[in-house]
Amino acid sequence: VTERKLNFSSGPAVLPDVVLRAAQSALWDLEGTGIGILEHSHRGKEFGAVLARTEARVRAVASIPDDYAVLFLTSGATVQFAMVPENFLAGGVADYCHTGVWSGKAIEEARRYGQPHVACSSEADRFSYIPDRFEWSAAPRYVHFTSNNTIYGTQWRGEVRSEPPVPEGVPLICDASSDLFSRPIDIRKYTLLYASAQKNLGPPGVTVVIVRRDFLESGAKGLPPLAQYRTYAKEASMHNTPNTFGIYVIGEVMQWILDQGGLAAMQQHNEAKAKVVYDFLDGSQAWRGHARPDSRSLMNLTFRGATPELEDRMVAAAEAQGLSGLRGHRSVGGLRASMYNAFPLHGAQRLVDLLGEIERTG
Ligand code: PMP
Repeated sequence: VTERKLNFSSGPAVLPDVVLRAAQSALWDLEGTGIGILEHSHRGKEFGAVLARTEARVRAVASIPDDYAVLFLTSGATVQFAMVPENFLAGGVADYCHTGVWSGKAIEEARRYGQPHVACSSEADRFSYIPDRFEWSAAPRYVHFTSNNTIYGTQWRGEVRSEPPVPEGVPLICDASSDLFSRPIDIRKYTLLYASAQKNLGPPGVTVVIVRRDFLESGAKGLPPLAQYRTYAKEASMHNTPNTFGIYVIGEVMQWILDQGGLAAMQQHNEAKAKVVYDFLDGSQAWRGHARPDSRSLMNLTFRGATPELEDRMVAAAEAQGLSGLRGHRSVGGLRASMYNAFPLHGAQRLVDLLGEIERTG
């Protein structure tokens, strides 16, 4: 048996132990059915029950109202960058909040289908903060934003700025890939919200979409069936073979969240971990956070060392001690500690202990 590492990966990322144990057993035999989860027909009653309970648990976790559909798409969030404008832009104007690499990709895709207008941007300051000045278009089809910027380590949060102050009546669309279900969420503020699963929800290759039903019906017709949200809603995400294993794991992760005390408990846990690291950074001479304090992400914590050599020494020492995945994304450099829901508090402490040791020994 190998010792498992402390996994700071930005995604695919750490999953709860109990979920992995359950999945391990379900690979061989799904809960006494005599067939493994990878081998069950997606049309059989056994997988039907898995899909139904996964949807029910997603709804329970976030108190999702009945007039919203919960869809499971067999692809990543990148597909949503195109699918959203393909369905809802139709040559028109949509406002985009530009806060990092992923919002940039969403804007690029939107250009294929209409005119994305950048309503706010922190690009000039290396995406180190969440903007607080907005220039809305006259009549945008929707506003799109990225709730957590995985690469730069900033997050829309706090009473005032958990989302952009959208003009009355404009649909709000959110890429919540790296913070969905890490904190309480009021689904009614959103018209459509999507998240690829490989951070807080489960394995890669499946995207959860939560969308108001009347809005999804307003989408373009005449697109290929799998490019229309209404197909997934009408056929319960089963127009073709869905990502059965991914949906199973999401169901287990949702049960784990509920057992832990739900989204309020997730938020408390995530705040406690982030505080350990940010408090350390604020008191350190050698390490400095990238994000402005009011925009700091609780999920992806980005920081730099005083010199590149210090960073290299830290990464080498971390790898030697089983702290994995701390190297920052190539576009920002430095270090990044991703600490999603399933990441343990003691891991945050291990990280700052080592950062402090490297700082002292130079
Ligand atoms: N949006 C955000 C905020 C992300 O962090 C990522 C992946 N890291 C994506 C979109 C793209 O997801 P995928 O690779 O599943 O398409």
